Amino acid sequence: MAGRPATTGGFEASSPLEAAQEQLRVASDYLGLDSGVRALLAQPRREVTVSVPLRHDDGHVSVFVGHRVQHNLDRGPAKGGVRFSPHVNLDEVRALAMWMTWKCALLNIPYGGAKGGVAVDPRQLSVPELERVTRRYTSELVGVIGPERDIPAPDIGTDEQTMAWMVDTISVDRGYTVPGAVTGKPISIGGSPGRSIATSLGVVQVALAALEDRGITPGQASAAVQGFGKVGRGAAILLAEAGVRVVAVSDQYGAIHNAAGLDIDAVATHVDLTGSVVDFPESDAIEGAQLLELKVDLLAPCAVEGVLSGANAHQVSAKIIVEGANGPTTPEADKILQDRGITIVPDILANAGGVVVSYFEWVQGNQAYWWTESEVETRLSRHMIGAWELVRAEARRTGRTFRETATCIAVDRVAEAHRVRGLYP
Ligand code: NAD
Repeated sequence: MAGRPATTGGFEASSPLEAAQEQLRVASDYLGLDSGVRALLAQPRREVTVSVPLRHDDGHVSVFVGHRVQHNLDRGPAKGGVRFSPHVNLDEVRALAMWMTWKCALLNIPYGGAKGGVAVDPRQLSVPELERVTRRYTSELVGVIGPERDIPAPDIGTDEQTMAWMVDTISVDRGYTVPGAVTGKPISIGGSPGRSIATSLGVVQVALAALEDRGITPGQASAAVQGFGKVGRGAAILLAEAGVRVVAVSDQYGAIHNAAGLDIDAVATHVDLTGSVVDFPESDAIEGAQLLELKVDLLAPCAVEGVLSGANAHQVSAKIIVEGANGPTTPEADKILQDRGITIVPDILANAGGVVVSYFEWVQGNQAYWWTESEVETRLSRHMIGAWELVRAEARRTGRTFRETATCIAVDRVAEAHRVRGLYP
C-alpha cells in the first residue's frame, strides 16, 4: 500500500456522487491503484434509465423516470435496493450503487453493487397505483435483473410488498417462480426470517461494539436516532432493548426529545396510529436539525444522505456516529468530525446487516432450504462483528479512520477480483 494521500480537508461534496468519488479517490491513493483501475472503479458498469408510465385510478396518465445502475460485477451478481422517492436522480443512484459494491466486498459476500429507483412520491399514490408503478418499472428492467444478474431489495419508500410485486412480475415473465430474483420478500413467498430487522440489528451490533470500544456500557449510554422508517425504527427499538437511553427520534415531519429516555415501543405505536413521531406525548418537540447536535453518546443518522455537512459538523456533540443511512456524512463533515475526535462507523460497515441477510435469503431461495431465525441472527452477528473487528484492527495498525480503512479493504478486494479476472478482450 502507498503512503498517506491528500485528505479530504476543505472538500465539500455537492452531491452523494461527489462524496462517493472522493472516498474512492482517497482509498485508491492509499492503495496505489493505477489510473486504469481507478477509472474502471469510478464508472458504473451498466446504467438503464426507463420511463414508467402510470394510469392513475381516475384514468389520467403520468410518466415517472426510473433508473437501475450496476456499478460493479467483478465479485458476483449486482445487489442493491430500490428507492421510491421524489428526490431520486441518476447521480444519487450511481453513488448508492458504488457504496453497495464496497459494502458487499467489505462484508465478503459474493456480490457486486447496484441500486435503483423511481422518482415518485409513494405517499401520493394509492396501493393499486403503486403496484402498477412497481410492475411497470420491473418489467422495463427484466432483461438486466434476476438471480444471476442483479438482485433488488427494499430501500427508502419500498417494502416487502414492493418486493412481492417485483418477484411476481419477473416470475410471470419467465413462466416459473424465481424466488432468488429479489430479497426482502414476505416470508410466505421465500423471504428470510430475520430480514426485516437485519439492517437495524447490524446497526445496533456495531453501535454497541463501538460504545464498548470507548468504554461505555449500554446502561450508561444515551442515543439519538434520525429517521423512524425500516432502519431507524428497528435501531431505536433494539437500542432501547439493549438498555440504551434513546432520548430523541425524528422523521421527515419533525423530531421529539425526552432527556429521561423515550418509551420507544410507545413511539412506534404512536407512529402506527398517526403516521409520524410528531405529537408523541411525554416528549418535547425539537427541530430535526437540533437532533443531530444533541449531547449524546451515540448518534445514528438513519434517514437520507448529506445530513452531516460542513454547515453543522462543528455543532455535532455525539461521541460516536453510526451511519444507519447511506452517505449521511459529507467528506467535509467527515474531516471536521474526525478532527474533533468523534468516532464514525461508516455506512458500508454499519448498515450492512440488510445485505448480509439478503445474501442469506438468496442462498436459501436458491437451495430451497430454510434456516431458523436464530441461525440467521447468529450468522449475521458473525459477519457484522467480524467486519467490525477487521476494520478496527486495521485502522489501529494504519492510523487511518474507520471509513478510510473500510473503503480500502473493500476497494482492494474489488481491484483484486478485477486483476485476476483480467480485462476483456
Ligand atoms: P424508509 O423509507 O423506511 O424510512 C426513512 C425514514 O427517514 C422515514 O421515517 C422518513 O420520514 C425519514 N426521513 C426522511 N427524510 C428525513 C429527514 N430529512 N430528517 C429526518 N427524517 C427523515 O427507509 P429505510 O429503508 O429506513 O432507509 C433509510 C436509510 O437507510 C437510507 O439511507 C437507506 O439507503 C439506508 N439503508 C436501508 C436499508 C434497508 O434494509 N432498508 C439497508 C441499508 C441502508
